[in-house]
Amino acid sequence: MSASPTSGLVPVDEALAIVLENAAPLPAQDVPLADADGRFLAAPVHAVIELPPFTNSAMDGYAVRAADTPGTLAVVGESAAGSPYAGTLADGEAVQISTGAALPAGADAIVPIEEVTATAGVATITVPPAKAGRFVRRAGSDSAHGAQILPAGIRLGPAQIGAAAAVGLRSLPCTSLPSVAVLTTGSELRQPGERLAPGEIYDSCGPLLTAALHRVGATVTHIPTAVDTRRSHREALSQALSHDVVISSGGVSVGPHDLVRSVGAELGVRELFWQIKLRPGKPLSFGIRDRTLVFGLPGNPVSTLVCFELFVRPALQALQGATNPQPAFQIGVLASAVSRYAEREDLIRVRRDAQGRLAPVGGQQSHQIVFTAQADGLARIPAGTGELPAGSEVAYLPLQPV
Ligand code: AMP
Ligand code: MG
Repeated sequence: MSASPTSGLVPVDEALAIVLENAAPLPAQDVPLADADGRFLAAPVHAVIELPPFTNSAMDGYAVRAADTPGTLAVVGESAAGSPYAGTLADGEAVQISTGAALPAGADAIVPIEEVTATAGVATITVPPAKAGRFVRRAGSDSAHGAQILPAGIRLGPAQIGAAAAVGLRSLPCTSLPSVAVLTTGSELRQPGERLAPGEIYDSCGPLLTAALHRVGATVTHIPTAVDTRRSHREALSQALSHDVVISSGGVSVGPHDLVRSVGAELGVRELFWQIKLRPGKPLSFGIRDRTLVFGLPGNPVSTLVCFELFVRPALQALQGATNPQPAFQIGVLASAVSRYAEREDLIRVRRDAQGRLAPVGGQQSHQIVFTAQADGLARIPAGTGELPAGSEVAYLPLQPV
């Protein structure tokens, strides 16, 4: 019986679902705010005070009773940030006030400094009359005491960390960072900076993966490159398997020196899929050993990048408890016609042109990492025949800083 070369290949979405089913969130830990940028929140966070904690002024000016304006008021004291006015405002009185200073008792509005003529203890307010509540920030107007300020599963950034600090929290409950082993394979690989002998190339997948991992959040361990012997693979994979996630590159295809899958099987890795309907990235392998997720990425650096974005990043986000770990595809419009590829979808490398349309970069083969360096995203071209014409809407995954 002759099978087509793509029969048995797993569709991309099915493969992603298998990966995500096996990526349960890691335990939570308290993370100091200074280290929390980019981390995922493990539990909802509530305000432990009301915010602002006291009613205060939104402007530099004078705290007044609105009913006294317009008029000439006696300036009876000052409320500065951190030094509230102790008394209570009586009829016909004003207190000089700074932005963020507590509104004195009895006052109900602020007149900005620009609207006041002040001389020797007297403030004259002509127009406009103040309205009660004008330029007043009410206690609790940003958050009530006990209200949820951040939901579980979000990725923390400056605004979220600022919000936590504003209610006085020193740390946040974050999901642990996955510990990830990066394992490059191939006797031809040299590290950048070394001398290339004939037939050798530089390892680009290792540095590419390290950078990608730092962005998504992980503690990264580099396993020394495995050469193409079973023994070297066994040593490297045994070390790697003590981590939450193993990401190998190369050695998962059908050649005689592709040893990652068979050595993985020997070491107890249960493969859940191999070979998917994707270009580039067809030979992707995914398996588990105990709770360790094992990604066998193809060796070509563009395939490594594409498989990272489609499968590994979502897994690492799921391990960190992300609410929505799926790749964040947007809709884009093709700048030029693109040939479709029968039976496998094609994640072409594109760059947005001046009109925001997606223009394929000049080299689309899976070794062409230098052309890929010109791209700012991946466009998802569904499998099929013929061309997708210019102007077609496609799914677009940005590659630039997340
Ligand atoms: P393989 O599946 O091991 O045959 O690798 C497929 C292609 O990717 C070959 O051309 C390898 O030389 C290349 N390759 C494998 N690993 C790397 C790497 N870490 N950096 C750059 N190219 C690689
Ligand atoms: Mg190889």
